[in-house]
Amino acid sequence: MASVKVAVRVRPFNKREINMNAQLIIQMNGKMTGIINTKANARDESIRYKEFTFDHSYWSHDEKQLENVSQEDVYNDLGTEVVDCAFQGYNACVFAYGQTGSGKTFTMMGSPENQGLIPRICKALFEKMSENSKKGITHRVQVSYLEIYQERVADLLRNRDNTSLKVREHPKKGPYVQGLTTCLVTNYGHVEECMSRGNSHRTTASTNMNDVSSRSHAIFTITFVQAGYCDGVPSETVSKIHLVDLAGSERADATRASGQRLKEGAHINKSLVTLGSVISALAEVSLSDQNGYRKSFFIPYRDSVLTWLLKDSLGGNSKTIMIATISPADCNYGETLSTLRYANRAK
Ligand code: ADP
Ligand code: MG
Repeated sequence: MASVKVAVRVRPFNKREINMNAQLIIQMNGKMTGIINTKANARDESIRYKEFTFDHSYWSHDEKQLENVSQEDVYNDLGTEVVDCAFQGYNACVFAYGQTGSGKTFTMMGSPENQGLIPRICKALFEKMSENSKKGITHRVQVSYLEIYQERVADLLRNRDNTSLKVREHPKKGPYVQGLTTCLVTNYGHVEECMSRGNSHRTTASTNMNDVSSRSHAIFTITFVQAGYCDGVPSETVSKIHLVDLAGSERADATRASGQRLKEGAHINKSLVTLGSVISALAEVSLSDQNGYRKSFFIPYRDSVLTWLLKDSLGGNSKTIMIATISPADCNYGETLSTLRYANRAK
């Protein structure tokens, strides 16, 4: 049972959009997200307006009378599910997908006053563990934090030494990064230290090299072992949670990477393209299961570093959540439509 859940989140207008007097082109109603093409001929409704349905559509613009969706709301819908899955012994993966500046880092990491999914999930894990330890269950938690930049893996928990690490595959344990730092953490404070260490390496890198953070994927991974007795027999359950802040989606599509974009030095991001193919293939597997037949689909995990590393957390019994983040403004129409289409493919 491969299950992919897809949410869309629109951010408020930013200063630049306000200054240029940008128009609001996004509408949300329940699970539905609609996008208006203000340039199109108003008589042709199918061109002027497109509508998509997702598992969640999250509003955050406050001029309309719609309710703002807070970091806590997003956590309650999506984060708690990830935490529950992990305690049941399943792997989980959460992606933030969207153009640069659309709210990926805000949604995943947030700020100290307005924490995103990653800190909230980690906090909840430790709360639940302390409850469970009263029942005689012991836990071991490890975190790692890495970055994929131009198909190379860098360790964000180590001072930058520019070495790229190799991805290998263990016959039983699956893909892993050789030599990656894993920190054993025993409380939430430890996790916080790891997060801020990794985040600072990410920002240092982006000031040195022409905006690496918009071109790289950051993966924060929590591996978590529960040990206890099951019918008097000692047993261990291992779960992995990958929380992924993807590269800007403006690099996802070959047609958009030509012309002007190519001049700007952008290039397509192989991992983003492959992720799209993997997730839509998984969505088809799930559909064929629901319809009572099982076709064999080839899932191209090995085609990119990102999908290879996440192989054991994508598909199978894993929980996969994609949050597509978008701008509300007409000036981003093209990127926003393509984000909605990418997200739509994943359902
Ligand atoms: P990305 O990581 O996709 O490049 P960011 O997460 O850095 O984008 O967001 C760009 C800016 O917009 C940041 O200043 C962030 O705080 C703000 N922002 C993004 N999403 C929201 C939101 N849902 N509510 C309020 N502010 C947001
Ligand atoms: Mg970011």
